[in-house]
Amino acid sequence: MHSRDVRPPPIAAPPDPLPALLQQAIDQAFNAVMITDAGETDHRIVYANPALCRMTGYALHELLGRDPRMLQGPQTSAQVIAELRSCLADGRFFKGSTFNYRKDGSPYLLEWNISAVRDASGRITHFVSVQHDLSALATAQDAAAVFARALDAAEDGVLICNPQGIIEFANRGYEKITGFSPVEILGHKPSIAQSGQHSPDFYATMWKRLQQGLPFRSVFINRRKDGTEVHCEESITPLHNLQGELTHYVSILRDITARVMADQAFREQLQYDSLTGALTRSSGSLHLESAVAQARARGAALSLALLDIDHFKQVNDSFGHPTGDKVLAKVASTIASCLRSDDKIIRWGGEEFLLVMPGCDASSAVATLERCRRSVQQACDGLLPLSVTLSAGVGQVAPEQVLSDAIERIDQALYRAKQAGRNQIQTAEP
Ligand code: GH3
Ligand code: MG
Ligand code: MG
Repeated sequence: MHSRDVRPPPIAAPPDPLPALLQQAIDQAFNAVMITDAGETDHRIVYANPALCRMTGYALHELLGRDPRMLQGPQTSAQVIAELRSCLADGRFFKGSTFNYRKDGSPYLLEWNISAVRDASGRITHFVSVQHDLSALATAQDAAAVFARALDAAEDGVLICNPQGIIEFANRGYEKITGFSPVEILGHKPSIAQSGQHSPDFYATMWKRLQQGLPFRSVFINRRKDGTEVHCEESITPLHNLQGELTHYVSILRDITARVMADQAFREQLQYDSLTGALTRSSGSLHLESAVAQARARGAALSLALLDIDHFKQVNDSFGHPTGDKVLAKVASTIASCLRSDDKIIRWGGEEFLLVMPGCDASSAVATLERCRRSVQQACDGLLPLSVTLSAGVGQVAPEQVLSDAIERIDQALYRAKQAGRNQIQTAEP
């Protein structure tokens, strides 16, 4: 308002001096109030209260006599202004919002209500507008929109539930992880994605912590919409308002299925010997100890056997190590095919295997070993110009027997089988 084209002071003054109370009330009102005259082509400001001056940054004398269009700018919606003009032309009440500009050039979001002021004859002489600066609200709404977009863009799944555990919000990340779209799960409980893999104790611990107002973190095995399992690192946090009342639970989930599968594959790789598919000696030993403990606890039989390929050095020497490897793998798979699902085969040494046969007494163990011996001979028939055979020592572990002693005696039985001409089974002495 420092330019030269400043208009002269108002040509249309308020009709009558406002009664003192009314004047004080409008002057002190929180909302901005502006009165313009009702000129044919343009309107001039005849009154502005201090709140309007504060909102716009103009002093009263800079506003009086000017057209309110002085407050408009590039972001002012032409459509809203056209609607406003059409309402005013018809003397209709107008309510709308758009951007106006302060004296310093900064835009602010404004909401107005404009009413026509008529004289006694019903002629429109003025318009009164009550204005409200929505900038703060707009910023808050923008921030809320940014948060919502940020949550949607996040890789992690986000679920927000009410205190009854009903899902009120789910982001796109949750849909990516579980296959459930927000529409499908809003109003349901997160248990919609339960896999049944967790014990009641697991959920009891979870609820106990949440009820104490503490976050709960764990790896959850969930079920995707397509029924497959998904492993999620998940944290659930109870949210409270200022009064300390529980308002929401927020869950953040990260899909770690790929990592879990890789870990599992890696552990399996360590567990099994790559050439023969048998358990490695280290993982097999753990298995052996637990099989012994279980047999003792249940008073059940347990038999062990040691098998060794006959003259295997000769195979290597005559046909090369790679051929020896193939024979070794064939022998192992043939032995495995003769065992029951509970039995285990451990690669105990180079071409020596230990069999663990739970629930198996000495005589049925001998029968199993005989089956192994014959099958290996048949399976390898024709592989090489010489026949591949094996010898074995077998025995039942006595209830109070120390495991190492049992293995020692079975090894002696194997030695006897070798001594007695190979390709045979010898039973360990009780
Ligand atoms: P015996 O009938 O007395 O058992 O005679 P053997 O020649 O089989 O003697 P022993 O069991 O002591 O020898 C085992 C041989 O098995 C020695 C080693 O070269 C071979 N061997 C051990 N591990 C492997 C393997 O992974 N691949 C191959 N090709 N050979 C192996
Ligand atoms: Mg051997
Ligand atoms: Mg050997």
